[in-house]
Amino acid sequence: MNRIKRGWIFLSFVVISLITIYHLPFSSSHSAYAQTAPNIIRNEATPIFPEKITFELELDPSHSIETVELTFTVNKFSCIDADVRVPVEFEDNVASWDWILTRSGNLPPGAVVNWFWTLTDQNGIAIETQTQSLTFDDPRYNWQEIEAEGINLYWYEGANVGPTLLNASVASLRRLESEMGIELQEDVNVFIYGNSEDMREAVLYIQGWAGGVAFTEYNTILMGVPPRLADTWGTEVVPHELAHLVVAQFGRSCVGGSRPTWLDEGLAVYAEGPPNAETLSDIREGLEDNAFDPIRSLNGSFAADHSQAGLSYSQSFSVVEYMLTTYGQEKMQTLLLVLADGADYDEALQEVYGFNIDGLEAEWREAIGAPPREIPPTPTPLSISAIPTYEPSGLPESVPTPETAVSSQQDNTPSQANPICGLGFLPLIALGLVFRKNDLFAKTK
Ligand SMILES: [Zn+2]
Repeated sequence: MNRIKRGWIFLSFVVISLITIYHLPFSSSHSAYAQTAPNIIRNEATPIFPEKITFELELDPSHSIETVELTFTVNKFSCIDADVRVPVEFEDNVASWDWILTRSGNLPPGAVVNWFWTLTDQNGIAIETQTQSLTFDDPRYNWQEIEAEGINLYWYEGANVGPTLLNASVASLRRLESEMGIELQEDVNVFIYGNSEDMREAVLYIQGWAGGVAFTEYNTILMGVPPRLADTWGTEVVPHELAHLVVAQFGRSCVGGSRPTWLDEGLAVYAEGPPNAETLSDIREGLEDNAFDPIRSLNGSFAADHSQAGLSYSQSFSVVEYMLTTYGQEKMQTLLLVLADGADYDEALQEVYGFNIDGLEAEWREAIGAPPREIPPTPTPLSISAIPTYEPSGLPESVPTPETAVSSQQDNTPSQANPICGLGFLPLIALGLVFRKNDLFAKTK
């Protein structure tokens, strides 16, 4: 054997030895694990809707496990790694931990929770159990399900309610796609409760008047729609809320970008279909009385006064319709993306359309035949009431919608006669959906 060959053999020996040494702890961990492999008797998550989920793990007594950790996550949009890892007390071969949703915030029906356990033995060797999943269902009703084009619609009252609202929702998706070029990016769950009270009971901490709520991070909408209102109010409000979700998916931002209210509401009303009689008469009256607000003042929340807010929705629709018919859908898509990148409203309009909000207003007024408005040379500063109420769209949020006047009379709750969503004139509440780890880690005994 010559020197070169001997050299190669030596080198191979070193390399093989190194590989073996490097892998030794790994191999021994496996053989150690093989000797002490814990036998899992029970590994389950038990939900009590909507308050909590109990995770439990029970091992056969013949194990050497010393510490147990639970890792869980929820399928939802998140800008950050949303895994939650929590040490769990392990006594009498059982580990049990309650996720108290009344502390951490709502989980909508249909949310999928995934979990696994990390088991560490006395030698510090850790193994992970297989990931399991649970769907957090509202078990109080006998849900029926109907599905089309990425919309999963669930309902339990009134035979025609599901198909009627699904058809309206699909039509709204098609309008969003054909007229704005905005497509649904992730499947949406729509839960139709038989009335707003049933809906409110599915949600922790919701205003007593709310008739609907959107969990945008979960792509989930909950609405209370009495069967007798399904083909009137329901066919407007469900597509409207769906449009909000689709636009929110398209314009998601992890850098704090947001959209002005007039744009969000204008797109949602546009998605409902051809303007209804109320919208048309609002626009007519707005013209006759020269009653339109400066568009800039509609950047934030709409007026609390019902008729003024109604005019704001109709004006928003008219502005968005003007933008779409004059400048086309591509510019609208670009605007949503530029806003998602964190540009302010004037900057975004300037970049995409070449005018700011005042310039947009001047063009729109001229197009619909309204007299020009005196616009100050510098942009009007935002008043307190005009500061956007939106959370950055990357954050978990939940937006309540007032119930109908009709359904609220039936439910004997205060009337909120706004037939569509109340995004504009209600302060947006993040229903405790911001997952604070401290809250999640709070242990219960
Ligand atoms: Zn709305």
